[in-house]
Amino acid sequence: MPDVKFLEEFSLYKKFKMKFPSELDKIPKPAINLFCEKCGKNQTFTMINEYYENKRFKNSPTKGEVILAEYLCAGCSIFKRHFLIKVSENLDFIKKIGQYPPWDISTDRNLSKMLHEHNDLFKKGLVCESQSYGIGAYAYYRRIVEIVIDELLDSIYELVEDENKKEYKKALDKTKKSRIAEEKIEMVKDLIPQTLRPGGANPLLFLYDILSQGIHESNDEECMEFAENVRSILVSLINQIMVTSQSSREYSDSIKKILDRKIK
Ligand SMILES: [Zn+2]
Repeated sequence: MPDVKFLEEFSLYKKFKMKFPSELDKIPKPAINLFCEKCGKNQTFTMINEYYENKRFKNSPTKGEVILAEYLCAGCSIFKRHFLIKVSENLDFIKKIGQYPPWDISTDRNLSKMLHEHNDLFKKGLVCESQSYGIGAYAYYRRIVEIVIDELLDSIYELVEDENKKEYKKALDKTKKSRIAEEKIEMVKDLIPQTLRPGGANPLLFLYDILSQGIHESNDEECMEFAENVRSILVSLINQIMVTSQSSREYSDSIKKILDRKIK
């Protein structure tokens, strides 16, 4: 299937490994949740075309094909999103070769808000990721952490349990005296509130681990994993902080997935 995560999050040309159905009419059409520019908020989009349109047969083989998925916002029934997808010859991966409107950081309003004028750095990180330039992607995301860390730690204060607020504030004041992101994180990491620790896992501790080990001897592939993890934690953490009232399930899932991968 082109699955939900692939459609919602993958940038152009990034391979999505999966066992793809061999016939056009066997490809699922999952609903997705993305920003609607007409409604001004995230909405459910459903697919309104057929994969076999413009193909010879309903059940034509999918290998090597380029297929189109056209999605319509269920809220306004006006705004559309289009995806052009290339299927590999061996049916072992797919990748987007076109998307309109293009994926960009504006799809994540919360992160965009915190990054202010530094949105470009995030976009460049995504471009590096899509080309598998892990060292480049890591460098961009690390830079972003350095830029947002003060604001991030400040905003965590609001979520800290009352009995720990005093201690957190003390540590927070100390962080202002350091200019090194991982030093700042180390000072407060043990004090972050339970609401930001899905299943007891501490995302700041994990971020600290990645940032402090350095990448001097790592190749593109190794850096790619660090880069993806830094990005996921950053995005999840910022969203969780800003949307505390919403369910923390998604956040928990993504952090848990990262930690599971780390433990393996
Ligand atoms: Zn809409």
